Amino acid sequence: MTNWHELERRYFMQTIKRLPLTIVRGQGARVWDDNDREYLDFVGGWAVNSLGHCHPVLVQALTEQARTLIQSSNQFYTVPQIRLAELLVQNSCFDKVFFCNSGAEANEGAVKLARRFGKLHLDGAYEVITTLNSFHGRTLAMVAATGQKKFQEPYTPLPGGFVNVAYDRIEAIQEATTSQTCAVMLEPIQAEGGVNIPSDDYLREVRDWCDQKGILLILDEIQTGMGRIGTLFSYQQWGVEPDIATLAKGLASGVPIGVVMAKSKADVFQVGEHGSTFGGNPLACAAACATLKFIIDNDIPGSVDRVGRYLSARLEALRSRFDFVVDVRGRGLLKALEFDRDIADSVLMACLDRGLLVNKVKPNTLRFIPPLIIGEKEVDQAMGILEEVLAEVG
Ligand SMILES: *Cc1c(COP(=O)(O)O)cnc(C)c1O
Repeated sequence: MTNWHELERRYFMQTIKRLPLTIVRGQGARVWDDNDREYLDFVGGWAVNSLGHCHPVLVQALTEQARTLIQSSNQFYTVPQIRLAELLVQNSCFDKVFFCNSGAEANEGAVKLARRFGKLHLDGAYEVITTLNSFHGRTLAMVAATGQKKFQEPYTPLPGGFVNVAYDRIEAIQEATTSQTCAVMLEPIQAEGGVNIPSDDYLREVRDWCDQKGILLILDEIQTGMGRIGTLFSYQQWGVEPDIATLAKGLASGVPIGVVMAKSKADVFQVGEHGSTFGGNPLACAAACATLKFIIDNDIPGSVDRVGRYLSARLEALRSRFDFVVDVRGRGLLKALEFDRDIADSVLMACLDRGLLVNKVKPNTLRFIPPLIIGEKEVDQAMGILEEVLAEVG
């Protein structure tokens, strides 16, 4: 049998330490390895496979579009991107969209848009305030935006124009705001940073501060958007509307895509000021249209909220049973389980052995980001495996 792991070591720049599992196919919330062994997938391509693996609606949209038109260029009009733009605008607080191919690229676009706004309306202000422990992507500018030393230190000097301040503390943003500030950029919930939920008033306070100063609020909804936390967009849960938001991960249920969405007020790009070769590509947009329609028509956010509460209850039961489980947090199907010691790796490996895929977000914290279409049955199966593993570890 082919040794895929050995080939990977031979040919790849070693930027990631992979788990010893080669996934060859998927269906719903399940995947199979190269020995045809089945796994329940609570990682979902890192919060990407909204509709699970190879959902028939997605497969059909991709197949039809692949037969029709795969790529042209943005010099011409194409239909799927216009349909997608209309769906996004009709179902959000935004007026305009710009399509690209990934989360980092969407955030880059958002920051460029904020800088244009600064030049036009804020006397050339260009600085963007972001938070410590955030995650906004891996390009140089987004590494500067991402307030985590481990991503920044290998690449100094970083592009300027970003200030990283404490999360969930309005005073930190207020103190960092100067005449050079054009925007605040936040994740509504810090996902890669450990699934950190802000206090109830935080986003409202940030919104009010931005209004008071005339600066823009950018929400990075790349992980929290598309129904992940129980509403189509997470800003809806805090009753706060950003001026700009970015989406990527779950938008096309596994096909690469990113989008910058803006209110009219912040829609300040002029012709030629931004662009992307693949952005708005018909194949990706057809996948996103199918995903978004399915999510809206089937009230997937409502189901995520229900199943997410059930998952919380099951995780809380684990906390009651095991004294080394110290915290359960998250919303919808973005959940974390924290231990009082660094055992996330060994718990993860033991889960893998028993056919469950979970994600380690910190040395002492597991994250659960399953497909949005799971039900209580999948939660029961996953929590059954996790409980066995924790009993063994404890
Ligand atoms: C994953 C993620 C990104 C980066 O997305 P890529 O597609 O990997 O560039 C940015 N922001 C948040 C909140 C994310 O979760």
